[in-house]
Amino acid sequence: MKYNCKKTRSVFNIKGRTIGDGQFMVIAGPCSVESQEQILDIAREVSTSGATVLRGSAFKPRTSPYDFQGMGAEGLKFLQLAANKHNLLCISEVVNTEDVALVAEYVDILQVGSRNMHNFSLLKAVGNARKPVLLKRGFAATYKEFLLAAEYILGHGNNEVILCERGIRTFETHTRNTLDIAAVPILRELTHLPIIVDPSHGTGLRNIVAPMALAAMAVQADGIMVEVHTTPDESITDAQQAISPAMFATMMDGLNKMAAVVNVQL
Ligand code: PEP
Ligand code: MN
Repeated sequence: MKYNCKKTRSVFNIKGRTIGDGQFMVIAGPCSVESQEQILDIAREVSTSGATVLRGSAFKPRTSPYDFQGMGAEGLKFLQLAANKHNLLCISEVVNTEDVALVAEYVDILQVGSRNMHNFSLLKAVGNARKPVLLKRGFAATYKEFLLAAEYILGHGNNEVILCERGIRTFETHTRNTLDIAAVPILRELTHLPIIVDPSHGTGLRNIVAPMALAAMAVQADGIMVEVHTTPDESITDAQQAISPAMFATMMDGLNKMAAVVNVQL
């Protein structure tokens, strides 16, 4: 087993925003871009409370082929417009190799989702892209498989890979996934790459997002990604885990207090 083993932690500067250097990155936004108005409203809310990156998927890897598949290219335009208007970076998921160039044209960070962590042609394609990549852990992937997936991207010349723990599938059915918070300190020992936590997909439960975000900061994660919606119950996708702007603001207050204690910048 050979991991890409650099001794010092990787720090990436993405258009002036850093990750990996003790600056806690907060990525927030809806699960899916639903309309121009929706993404503009959410961007305003999350930027006011201190997010620095706007999320919103335009291509959705849905479990059911009958469910909403995303707005496509139009959604990417709305996401970029909203991010620019509110001085945020933006991130969106790419689900197949043919769309890498299109998504890369609009976003600052390319997201590879849990279902595609083992999609080796997609990993190679984002490895050839000149944009940072957020790689989500497959919901049945070991740490070793997760790190080797990252190496496909690194091996194709893209050094800017951010790992994301988003929960794994276990026997527990109360939560959508079991958030493996121990992944953060363990991966910090195994790799130099920044690691963030997604407590939204990691729990699937709106009320558990904030406590798990605090836990992520406490274990020295480099950031979080959370799903926020102005009308959470009306979210087209992942409504049960979407938090309102008010819940997001309260969570950010808690993170600000904890940042002072654990010595991270927010
Ligand atoms: C997402 O972040 O939009 C998503 C689909 O998450 P995951 O790939 O972790 O299921
Ligand atoms: Mn989602």
